[in-house]
Amino acid sequence: MNTTDTPVTVIGLGLMGRALAGAFLKAGHPTTVWNRTASKADRLVADGARLAPTVGAALEAGSLTVVCLTDYEAVRDLFGASDARLDGTTLINLTSGSSAQARETARWAERLGAHYLDGAIMAIPPAIGTPEAVILLSGPQADSGTGPALDALGTVTHLGADHGLASLYDVAGLTMMWSVLNAWLQGTALLSTAGVDAETYAPFARQIAAVVAEWLPGYARQIDSGSFPAEVSALETDVRAMAHMVEESEAAGVDTGLPKLIKAMADRSIAAGHGGEQYPVLIEEFGGSRTG
Ligand code: NAP
Repeated sequence: MNTTDTPVTVIGLGLMGRALAGAFLKAGHPTTVWNRTASKADRLVADGARLAPTVGAALEAGSLTVVCLTDYEAVRDLFGASDARLDGTTLINLTSGSSAQARETARWAERLGAHYLDGAIMAIPPAIGTPEAVILLSGPQADSGTGPALDALGTVTHLGADHGLASLYDVAGLTMMWSVLNAWLQGTALLSTAGVDAETYAPFARQIAAVVAEWLPGYARQIDSGSFPAEVSALETDVRAMAHMVEESEAAGVDTGLPKLIKAMADRSIAAGHGGEQYPVLIEEFGGSRTG
């Protein structure tokens, strides 16, 4: 069977679900849809989708089913209350949630006989169907037919057999995104006190972000090896610049929460004896579990 012939089902036609179903249709997949509020399927039906009368009928129509609802509670409520039979189904849950919810839902779905993959979408609806849409999947990859069909949605990466991985990567990515944006906003607020507008600062900030991104692979090697020689700069040197960051913010009347948090973590690491080591030694302040 040609991969675009694979019949697919999309359950949940909110902003994201409609984008997912639209991308399957555009790629040529026979697409069945179901939504609690049926009218949200109107446009998709006009474009060639088939609206199933019940969740159970929707599940029977596709060889793989993508679910995208508000949260995991909605997923369990929906399948728990419906006539749905999950045995033999390949169920791909792209609803956002925690790794614990993903693992628990996997156990529940597998008990009912489904082949369950959990996923996370790191993209906005207009990006779905383009390579920019990052779709993360986790869970046992028993069904080799799954991948090609999902390629209609974006760039799909299977992370491993642990169902919780997609949610963990999702949260890690969001932490990165908001931390970088907050750091940029801090600088933008500081510079505004000297009459520099955001658009003037943005290209400089972008360059700094790109340079820092280049450091990640080398710093990751230090973390994984558990060895942090100060090849470029020692933490006790960095912390002096962190003090400037706090002082400048205080003097300018800009919020000091972020600079103080950054400095407090470095101070703790230095107090623990790491002042002569390089920045990624701070990983120890973040906790977690490493083998390095
Ligand atoms: P949305 O527009 O609010 O749609 C929510 C969907 O969930 C609707 O289809 C809604 O049905 C359905 N739903 C909620 N509770 C339900 C229940 N108890 N039973 C049956 N259906 C129920 O949200 P969205 O933007 O599509 O987001 C969906 C998921 O994608 C979320 O987990 C979100 O975090 C994730 N996501 C979204 C984006 C984004 O940019 N939008 C990006 C990444 C990930 P009704 O239409 O009947 O209300």
